[in-house]
Amino acid sequence: MILRWSLRSQLLAWVLLCTTTVAVIFVGLIWREQRSFELMREQGNGLVLELVRDGLQQRGSALASQLSNAVANPLYFLDLDRIGEYTRNTGQQSDVTYVLVADAQGRIVHDGSRDIARFGEALDDFAQDSGVRTSSAARSNAVTLQWSQGVLHVTAPVLLGEQIIGRVRIGLSMEEGQRTAQAWGATVEAGLSRTRVSHVRWLLLGLGLITLFGLIGLFFLRRNVLKPIRALAQAASAVEVGRYIEARGLEARNDEIGDLSRVFSRMADSVERHEREIRRIAYTDPLTGLGNRLSLGESLESRLLTLQASSGELALMFIDLDDIKRVNDTLGHHAGDELLVDVALRIRQACADADVDAVELARFGGDEFVVLFPGQSVRERAVSLAERLLVAIATPMNLNERALIVSASIGITVFPDDAASAAQMVKNADMAMYQAKAAGKGCYRFYSRALDEEVERRVRLERDLRGAWDRGEMSLAFQPVFDLIDGRAVGAEALLRWEHPELGLVPPSIFIGIAEDSGLVEALGERVLELAMRAASTWTSASGGRPPFVAINVSPRQLSRGDLPEVVERALLRSGLDAHRVHLELTETAILRDEAQATAAFTRLRAKGVGVWLDDFGTGFSGLSHLRRVPVDGVKIDRSFITDLLRDPNDLALTTGVIAMARSLGVTVVAEGIENEGQHDLLRERGCPMGQGFFLSRPLPGDEVGRLFG
Ligand code: C2E
Ligand code: MG
Ligand code: MG
Repeated sequence: MILRWSLRSQLLAWVLLCTTTVAVIFVGLIWREQRSFELMREQGNGLVLELVRDGLQQRGSALASQLSNAVANPLYFLDLDRIGEYTRNTGQQSDVTYVLVADAQGRIVHDGSRDIARFGEALDDFAQDSGVRTSSAARSNAVTLQWSQGVLHVTAPVLLGEQIIGRVRIGLSMEEGQRTAQAWGATVEAGLSRTRVSHVRWLLLGLGLITLFGLIGLFFLRRNVLKPIRALAQAASAVEVGRYIEARGLEARNDEIGDLSRVFSRMADSVERHEREIRRIAYTDPLTGLGNRLSLGESLESRLLTLQASSGELALMFIDLDDIKRVNDTLGHHAGDELLVDVALRIRQACADADVDAVELARFGGDEFVVLFPGQSVRERAVSLAERLLVAIATPMNLNERALIVSASIGITVFPDDAASAAQMVKNADMAMYQAKAAGKGCYRFYSRALDEEVERRVRLERDLRGAWDRGEMSLAFQPVFDLIDGRAVGAEALLRWEHPELGLVPPSIFIGIAEDSGLVEALGERVLELAMRAASTWTSASGGRPPFVAINVSPRQLSRGDLPEVVERALLRSGLDAHRVHLELTETAILRDEAQATAAFTRLRAKGVGVWLDDFGTGFSGLSHLRRVPVDGVKIDRSFITDLLRDPNDLALTTGVIAMARSLGVTVVAEGIENEGQHDLLRERGCPMGQGFFLSRPLPGDEVGRLFG
């Protein structure tokens, strides 16, 4: 962990350092002062003692001289009484410890006592403080001063004229002098300690004041700088997580910190505005003004979170427009956008009219819209809303002065019945929408678990289909088409095959639908065109008759893209096949979607020599009259009519009618799905010129079919 060296700690440390330094200096000063006091006391004591000694010596000298003068005569006359009197008088002085008077020979004559106890003793010398025993004082003619064990011994000669007739010696004690020195020392000590105490007091006061000022400074710093900075830091953190309101509550102050706070508040406002704008841009679909995938995701998550706590329901509807790509391809993207805006408005209006509250709309992808609404018994409401939506969307709209009808497929899922998570709900609704598409489009489906598998299979197939061609899983089979009169193979229909690595052969009825829904069919179709043409370019007619043709199935989406003639031309160029040997098979529905466009494309193709055949004829056409308006070269009667040809008179009538009408229009006819001889013969009898079916030949691999013509 990295220790944080906060500003506050730094300041505190600084104050502590200052106080400690000052305290150390103060203690040093006090210590020095103490040392000076001690020195002063020691020297003072020495000086006082010196003075006391000097005083004592002077006094001793004076006393001894006085006494020697006084006892000169009595000593001469050996008047012991008088000598005793003087001696005692002197001995009465408080600091005099003894008085001795000796004769010229140094023998004690008097010691001041009544019985003169020491009479006759030698006035000996004594150990001085130096420890040297000397008799110099006892012999000296001058006044001698000697110190021994704190006593001053003053010896003075007693003179009569010039002659020394004896000596006096007085012992003076230092005790009193020492007492005086001690008293002086005590007085000085008391004075010094008073001064010291006062100094310490002042120093402590100074130190206290420094600490106090430091703390006061710290307090103000904390209140006026650190606290606002911390508040700013907190506000910055709040802004960081989007709580802008907290950046407004900063203290209004009239100083630099106040300036900083104001600038910060303004900055937070600006950030908030920007974020709001960014959110608006990020969460809104620019085309329709509805929410987008992001906003829906967030709101779905939060709604689910709220609902998990309560017990409400939530419906999610996935609305996918059917074949919107066709509008883009034929009328341009601008028209497609207009259509989406119109549809968004219709959805909005339908939701407003319906019995749902708190509804949320979003555009989920290109042509996918999502409606989200909570409530009780949302299933029933979803039904009525879905019906309303289907009607609203299917109402004809005017686009580029053309009346256009679009339909939508709606998938509905309900929380908590179907799923608990947002991702699962979206997936469910998507699956349900797929179901609606599979059920014929223009309808709604509720999600149901049973349908999961089917839809999942479809999703998986779509995923696998994407790379199938490049992985070499796709190939072409060719079903020969026969001339029913002479029984010769005149051409073949190219049929796409997908060998899935795990599932095996997937029927075109399944994967072509998936390819169409996912937009894969355009690329796939282009490759089929080229491959089929390349295969056909190797076929030759042995009898020297017309060279065999190849019939290629074209998806309605390939037609509605608008560039079919170019795509076909490119394939012709690459394969080198004669255009007259190619027939394109298109279903009626492809033509019905946009008759004008189909007519234009067919005209161009036919001008190049490419034939156009109507596939699965009879299954969806509202009337045979359409045949007159659309320029085609042939029709393929759908297998469903051929199957019951022998049993159902209606089918026979229709087949016969188609053959007759085609002939009158100069259009050729191919019967599909001839499975038995009866069908074959009947068709031949009714004048059907061409036919194909298992009875004649099953679809064959590319290399085998060529031999049929040889
Ligand atoms: P279609 O164009 O009507 O093709 C004829 C279908 O009928 C073929 O099915 C063929 O195998 C089958 N058939 C032929 N004779 C008989 C018969 O006697 N009895 C029965 N029961 N069926 C017979 P297939 O190959 O499964 O193709 C199905 C559909 O897939 C085709 O119908 C066509 O619409 C589509 N398709 C196939 N290949 C392509 C392709 O390359 N592009 C496009 N866009 N569609 C294709
Ligand atoms: Mg066909
Ligand atoms: Mg067909």
